[in-house]
Amino acid sequence: MMHFVGVDLGASNVRAAVGDRTGEIRATARARTPAGPTGAAVTDAVREVVTAACSSADVDSTDVAGAGVASMGRLDLAAGAVASAPNVDADVGPIRLVGPLASLLDLDRDAVTLRSDTQAGAVGERFHAHPDVEDLVYLTISSGIGAGVIADGEPLTGRDANAGEVGHITIAPEGGMTCGCGREGHWEAYCSGNNVPRFARALHERDPVDTAVPLADEGFDAADVYAHAGTDAFADRVLERVTALNVRGAAAVVHAYAPRVLVVGGAVATNNPETVVEPIRRRLPGELVVDAPEVTLAELGDDAALAGALVLAIPDADRP
Ligand SMILES: [Zn+2]
Repeated sequence: MMHFVGVDLGASNVRAAVGDRTGEIRATARARTPAGPTGAAVTDAVREVVTAACSSADVDSTDVAGAGVASMGRLDLAAGAVASAPNVDADVGPIRLVGPLASLLDLDRDAVTLRSDTQAGAVGERFHAHPDVEDLVYLTISSGIGAGVIADGEPLTGRDANAGEVGHITIAPEGGMTCGCGREGHWEAYCSGNNVPRFARALHERDPVDTAVPLADEGFDAADVYAHAGTDAFADRVLERVTALNVRGAAAVVHAYAPRVLVVGGAVATNNPETVVEPIRRRLPGELVVDAPEVTLAELGDDAALAGALVLAIPDADRP
């Protein structure tokens, strides 16, 4: 039987899965992503996790017919590497992936496919939950915001797998929030898990009302705001602003890519489907000049990118 390997390299964890040509996962392994000191240390961790997944599946690593890698960070596809990974360590340097995995698995470089984690997530959600859909966008709202696009049945890659960086769409340039990239008014500056707390504090500074939201706590995070939805007037005001901007951002994505299905995932969405996904479903049609897509919660949760990486490892001709 032919075996394939999928890898999901995230800022916190690196995971690997082994499966067959049906895309079903047979065994997995995971480890913490090392914070450096070099890209080579991260590469070593990836190789170890792949080796562990193979041994857990009782598959000789040289019997693997293809590999797919979903990664965070800025990719350099020509080098088959993560060029920079600010979420791990800005100074970690390039993390080589394609070459080292090809040699570990005794494969040609062409048999190792590197994509962004959101692009792999789109492939995973489509394969497992929407196999008949030719046009799909997988929107993740987590620590950042991004999208993976399937258009005309094909995953959209773009230069260096940068298609779908929708978190940096400018949706509120006069709103006063600066994005992590340094520019004003980007979607994720307001609505990502990392930035909802900053936005809440900024709104409270402008209008310091009484609230049960623990704005002053050191560990204050987006979950604290969502936990007070419906019970705290200030939390509801923040979340109404966030929702309005999420709807505006989602409308921009639909106008750009014309999906039939908009899958919404990422931890912020999957932990708060009624507060995040339901309002997008309800309000999106009113913002569109094109037909509204079906809006649905991601089904694979944290596994979307890993599942998609495994599918990307399987040549089209071998897929069921
Ligand atoms: Zn930005």
